[in-house]
Amino acid sequence: MTFNDLGLNKLLLKAIKEQGYENPTPIQEQAIPVILKRKDILAGAQTGTGKTAGFTLPMLELLLRSKENHKGKRHIKALILAPTRELAAQVEESVRLYAKHTDYTSTVIFGGVKINPQLVALRRGVDIVVATPGRLLDHISQKSIDLSHVDFLILDEADRMLDMGFVNDIKKVIAALPANRQTLLFSATYSNDIKKLSNQFLKSPTLIEVARTNASSEIVQQAIYHVDKSRKRELLTHLIKEGDWKQVLVFTRTKHGANRLSGQLETDGITSAAIHGNKSQNARTKSLADFKAGKIRVLVATDIAARGIDIDQLPHVVNYELPNVSEDYVHRIGRTGRAGNKGEAISLVCVDEDEFLAGIEKLIKKDIPKVWLKGFKPDPSIKAEPINMGGNRGARNKPRGGGSRNGGGNRNGGRNGGRR
Ligand code: AMP
Repeated sequence: MTFNDLGLNKLLLKAIKEQGYENPTPIQEQAIPVILKRKDILAGAQTGTGKTAGFTLPMLELLLRSKENHKGKRHIKALILAPTRELAAQVEESVRLYAKHTDYTSTVIFGGVKINPQLVALRRGVDIVVATPGRLLDHISQKSIDLSHVDFLILDEADRMLDMGFVNDIKKVIAALPANRQTLLFSATYSNDIKKLSNQFLKSPTLIEVARTNASSEIVQQAIYHVDKSRKRELLTHLIKEGDWKQVLVFTRTKHGANRLSGQLETDGITSAAIHGNKSQNARTKSLADFKAGKIRVLVATDIAARGIDIDQLPHVVNYELPNVSEDYVHRIGRTGRAGNKGEAISLVCVDEDEFLAGIEKLIKKDIPKVWLKGFKPDPSIKAEPINMGGNRGARNKPRGGGSRNGGGNRNGGRNGGRR
């Protein structure tokens, strides 16, 4: 199937061509025709599948078909909700790319930054808004946003929004929207909470599923390097230098760990920056831009900060520490091997993490190849110790479920500084 077969406007086809996309991805092939029929959808798709274009293109197509002109003030016709600032910013960037040859305008709204520029943009009038729930509610409560003309609501990474405790915020936002609208819900998992949300707010949705939990784990080349905890830094530096890796995303379990490792890599002569929830939005945006531009070689991130980060052709992901929540492993390695590119995900695993590894292999239903690198073989006399989760607010040492894993501090993307 080609994009032409999907019946998209030539203004959109032109933008697609400029992006260099040859054919629709499976989620695009399935979702676009259904959305164009004005139906609600419940789609199981992770980042990396092309889902953003999967909802943005048909949304723009329907806007174009509605032939609404902008003689008067622009009204917000589409609202996209995303869990984190990074994801919201990236989705809006994509919207802008695909809408480039049309008249439609978009803006992004999230917390942690000044509200004034957002007020100005909203007052000027805009067609498409991408927002995190917290700051959007601020605008709703101070009546700085008019959502009464919204035809499309898109919930992106809905499972993450629920994980982050946004369920009530989402409900409040939906209460401010017209009942007569099209709703598209994207989620990597179908939990009971997602089903509940869908039953409550979607109208006989069409179910679309393209990527199972282990989809990215099949594309990405993975390896486990067994190593002692005290030698992980040395091994990481060795791998980066020996392999001449130019762009590496490294995951740590805690914010403190991210800062420390980033500093150590700098000491080892490897340019690096850390991104996590304690950094200002500006610092995070700058680090990400520097990383994308190749100015820094290593970006050290915690799970939440990296959520939704979209870097084309990111070749290397390293788990400096395995996540204690197995699903996070799949999300982490999904940062590489995107849209058909090759990717490699390496995990440095010490004896303390054997249980996490077993959980991950059970989830992805396969054994990850193991490497014992010469010169870095673990000392067999070292026995497993309980993992120190950092002991801070961001520590996520609880099992998935019940919302308890959030640890309070670092899963509030978009809300920092926004509400209190
Ligand atoms: P997403 O899942 O929306 O985060 O998209 C993942 C990546 O796939 C992004 O870098 C997109 O630019 C890219 N992409 C989206 N659609 C296509 C397509 N049809 N062909 C090739 N790449 C695509």
